[in-house]
Amino acid sequence: MVYLHSLIATVLLLTQKLVLSVVGLVAQKTSIGVIVVELKFVSCVGMNIGLMIFTLTGTILRTSMPKVNQATETPQYLRPYEFLGLELTYKAGDKDAYADCIYCEREGKMGIKVETGQFRCNVCEEKGNIRVFMQKLQELSFEATTTQDYKELAANRKLYTDETLIHWQLGKSILTGDWLIPGWNVEGKLTGLYRYIKNGDRMMLMPTPTLGHHLLGMNLFDKQCAVLYVCEGSWDSMCLWETLRLAKPSGEGYVATSNPQASLLADANVIGVPSASVFYENWCDLLGGKTINLMAQNDHERIHSKTKKRIAPASYEGMLKIHKMLLQADHPPESVNMIFWGDKGWTEELPTGYDVRDMITS
Ligand SMILES: [Zn+2]
Repeated sequence: MVYLHSLIATVLLLTQKLVLSVVGLVAQKTSIGVIVVELKFVSCVGMNIGLMIFTLTGTILRTSMPKVNQATETPQYLRPYEFLGLELTYKAGDKDAYADCIYCEREGKMGIKVETGQFRCNVCEEKGNIRVFMQKLQELSFEATTTQDYKELAANRKLYTDETLIHWQLGKSILTGDWLIPGWNVEGKLTGLYRYIKNGDRMMLMPTPTLGHHLLGMNLFDKQCAVLYVCEGSWDSMCLWETLRLAKPSGEGYVATSNPQASLLADANVIGVPSASVFYENWCDLLGGKTINLMAQNDHERIHSKTKKRIAPASYEGMLKIHKMLLQADHPPESVNMIFWGDKGWTEELPTGYDVRDMITS
């Protein structure tokens, strides 16, 4: 595992240093498999923006994409509370819905205004809006989550250490028992909670309805760092974050380190976007003046079964759009790099959805 982390760290450091020439890199056999990595620079795109192309071959897995929950008859301002697990007593025409208070635990004493979504407990008098509620729910859930819970999720998500989940402030909801992944705005304030739940036959990050999307990992963001990795989804982001944090340069290569200040993460941030197709304009502010590495997934191109029209590879297309937005931003990045998994931006040699976490953990 340490070797694999060193391998990916090597790849990533090369990205950081903007190596602009063909680089042949390791082909190593480990007890778990063979990974061959080649890097080659392909073209410069506009201004001082470099586009770096990676070709990778390795092995398998699949990750998921979030979707916004649309269908419900619950009034708009009650929907987030309901989604997060409050059992609401409410009927059409009521001005207030009632639920058990998450502060004092008194049954049915938390009133929520149907017209505004403001809550207030009739007993402990705690009050606020949905953001205040989510902050408290996240805090209580985080505190109630056990070491065993973290170990199980880390194993399930193939993370190197359960400490990563604690750093990213995941908690098991005290209301539903599902994992909650906090979403943040560019100031690092909690603005949403994602539930990691089953949607159809797959586990997905589902955003709290009516609140839009949010950045992942912003609680750890350090403005001073020159490099910023943008991953798709939470697990990919966490896996890359912990890998950078565990590796440091040493002589001819990279070695494991327990000192984050000496690690590859010392001058880098890793943030997650919920999907490559979701990127808000104000997020560009965060990326200005920095070296940005867009870590796309290897989504395959598809053909629509009825219209026979081409459906573009989602992650690749999404990251290209982000790249264009960054180019046009008032305060553009110093440079932007992007992973390509093949000549077309993706390759059939790897499964669709294959990402950095798959490469690190395979
Ligand atoms: Zn109360």
